[in-house]
Amino acid sequence: MDGLEQLGKRLAELDAIPGVSGDEERVAAYMQKELRPCVDDFYEDALGNQVFVKRGSNAEQKIMLCAHMDEIGFVVNHIDEKGFVSFLPVGYHDSRMVMNQVLAIHTDQGQILGITGSKPAHLVSEEESKLAIPMEELYLDVGTTNREATLALGVQVGDYITFHRRGQFLNGSTMYTGKSVDNRAGCTVMIEVMKRLAAKSIGPTVYAVASVQEEVGLRGAGTAAYAIQPDVALALDVALSGGTPRMDEKISPIAIGKGPVILFYEWEPSTGAGNNVPKRLTRKLVEAAERYSIPYQRGVGLGGSTDAYTMSISGRGAVTGCVSVPSRYIHSATGMVQLEDIEYTIQLVESFIEGYQK
Ligand SMILES: [Zn+2]
Repeated sequence: MDGLEQLGKRLAELDAIPGVSGDEERVAAYMQKELRPCVDDFYEDALGNQVFVKRGSNAEQKIMLCAHMDEIGFVVNHIDEKGFVSFLPVGYHDSRMVMNQVLAIHTDQGQILGITGSKPAHLVSEEESKLAIPMEELYLDVGTTNREATLALGVQVGDYITFHRRGQFLNGSTMYTGKSVDNRAGCTVMIEVMKRLAAKSIGPTVYAVASVQEEVGLRGAGTAAYAIQPDVALALDVALSGGTPRMDEKISPIAIGKGPVILFYEWEPSTGAGNNVPKRLTRKLVEAAERYSIPYQRGVGLGGSTDAYTMSISGRGAVTGCVSVPSRYIHSATGMVQLEDIEYTIQLVESFIEGYQK
């Protein structure tokens, strides 16, 4: 497949950028560098959403694409007298995934590394060894022995923290693993779609939104949709992939390498967040895939939601769906996506926009 190498380079560049929810400025700068030259209009809103506009021949038809820029991470909340840094979660974490990691604190003076240390195995009781250590008991060791030394490194309460992990393609394959494939994979899709559409004349006007603060409550997408008032909105994100050991296929039938996931239904019962995608949209998305024999998967999920939720109910509401790249190990330090899946996701979204009629 042509262009996969280029796609991989872009994904790796995006994945390397730190951008915890609320601290998306560096990702925004990348999106601007790549997209401003190939769109008709651009603006940034109050929350920091980046809005790139390609005008179509029919100003009455508005399609909004939305890929969130932020990644899950942490924020410094205390530095103790021995110099250890405690932190709070930003976004949903499984605390088992946070132990014995190298984390990067993004201070005003640059990046400071630390490790999430733990009690040596020799001292852990049998009972303790079976328990996950709660997030509030984790701490970051930045290699100092007192508070003054940690402060001297530039670490302050309020600094954001990311996993520190060099992304890579595993063993020469097209499987990429990195700290923030959720959702730099979606950002990669959106950049590519807009670049490929740049030279084409299309019917609808497309608003490509790189959104903020998705991981803490789908915040940016809602306000952006309120301002744009699209007819149709599509979240571009990653979807939880099964197909790995100890994952029940009945619960997680989506698999990596089988193409983009067209969402039909998502619901988070504890909050009511979710999106029951209207059939008149899913039909068009399936048609867009089948027109070019693009492989796709039908996705239905309980226990989570995407930017599609807030876009669908903002302002007067919008017909909203979600097209996702399947990803293994989401919401951990080691997400994994496949380049072919990303390429097919781009093709599906491009096909949908080109074929779009009200
Ligand atoms: Zn996401």
